[in-house]
Amino acid sequence: DQAMYQAKLAGKGRYHLFDADHDRSIRSHNETLERIQQGLQQGEFILHYQPKVHMRTGRVIGVEALVRWQHPENGLMSPAQFLPVIEDHPLSEALGEWVIGTALAQAATWKSAGVELPVSVNVSARQLRQRDLVPRLRSLLDRHPELAPGTLELEILETSTLGDLALVSSLLEGAREIGIEVSLDDFGTGYSSLTYLKRLPAGTIKIDQSFVRDILDNPEDLKILEGVLSLAIAFDRQVIAEGVETVRHGDMLLRVGCEFAQGFGIARPMPPEAIPAWLLHWQPPAHWSGLPIIDHN
Ligand code: C2E
Ligand code: MG
Ligand code: MG
Ligand code: MG
Repeated sequence: DQAMYQAKLAGKGRYHLFDADHDRSIRSHNETLERIQQGLQQGEFILHYQPKVHMRTGRVIGVEALVRWQHPENGLMSPAQFLPVIEDHPLSEALGEWVIGTALAQAATWKSAGVELPVSVNVSARQLRQRDLVPRLRSLLDRHPELAPGTLELEILETSTLGDLALVSSLLEGAREIGIEVSLDDFGTGYSSLTYLKRLPAGTIKIDQSFVRDILDNPEDLKILEGVLSLAIAFDRQVIAEGVETVRHGDMLLRVGCEFAQGFGIARPMPPEAIPAWLLHWQPPAHWSGLPIIDHN
């Protein structure tokens, strides 16, 4: 009897404990969702922009918009701290729409200051399941008729949740028809990189930083990089290396024929006000222009 009672107690205790934890985590999840919604309404989200360059010439080919949450108590929060919370929630569509609208307005502001700069935005898998994505994009673009076609680029993350590739592919075709560029982000990290390469109409492939970071010491990573490069060239895609942290990474990339790059070694993501001054002052390392051009054909 005593043993029974103990087991029951323990079981009950465990149950209650689990229940309380579960309850608490749901509550905190919901609170976070509400906070994000409120933050969106109160203008707490901001975009930083990170340049993408053609290393040999120093030409800036565009900037990538990266969202941050200027949280009144927590300070500046990175996307990893809040995007996972809204991944499966309609809020990620609202945030995504805000990001695109804001990035386009920023491009228009730069343009009126004499700086014409393509902007890319990261789109979530959920946004790509919106059947009316293309008309939505069109109406966001219509607010800024002064922007040239090609100003907006969508960066598509390779995730297994992309779902019906035929559908995504036709959405992206529709986007391209209204002058929107498409790139495959974090290339090589998903389970279906090659399928995506084959099936999605992306003009650019962004090689994930995990393959770039160690190219100076790891011959295998360098081989992967070269392999992706020749694949991309065979498919007539442009390649950008992400995570170019040092000049020496740039040297190595140029030696194997990867000409486009993005990374802390070139510029960190920065607030939009900082971009014009950065554009004026940035210069690529002088020796980059002298490295031999690799002809892949
Ligand atoms: P991503 O699109 O691959 O963006 C590159 C990330 O790497 C950015 O982190 C950037 O700050 C960081 N990075 C750039 N250069 C370097 C480098 O040289 N070294 C290292 N170690 N990191 C570098 P961030 O801003 O924290 O964004 C992380 C991810 O969050 C993004 O990866 C993207 O997948 C997602 N994200 C960011 N903004 C948005 C957004 O507006 N919407 C959606 N759906 N996702 C976003
Ligand atoms: Mg990206
Ligand atoms: Mg990336
Ligand atoms: Mg990434």
